[in-house]
Amino acid sequence: MNIDPVCGMHVDEKEAPFSYLYRDRAYFFCSEACMDAFSAGPDKYLKLAAEREIAESKREEGGYFSRLLKRLGEHAEKNPPPKCH
Ligand SMILES: [Zn+2]
Repeated sequence: MNIDPVCGMHVDEKEAPFSYLYRDRAYFFCSEACMDAFSAGPDKYLKLAAEREIAESKREEGGYFSRLLKRLGEHAEKNPPPKCH
């Protein structure tokens, strides 16, 4: 699975009709408009794509921690701390 560096959409390289070779790497696009935009300024879009990737990996981390916290919370609900009477 590839990401269209222009719009950020996921593109299947086997089905994508639009691809562009830049610095020995093939990039895939959802539409001709995205490919044209990329070919007009590949570096700009590659920089944007790199930034988007970083932002997404950060969001993933957030997701992991919020899931972990939720699980810990559920655990505490099902297993209340022992009380001594
Ligand atoms: Zn696109």
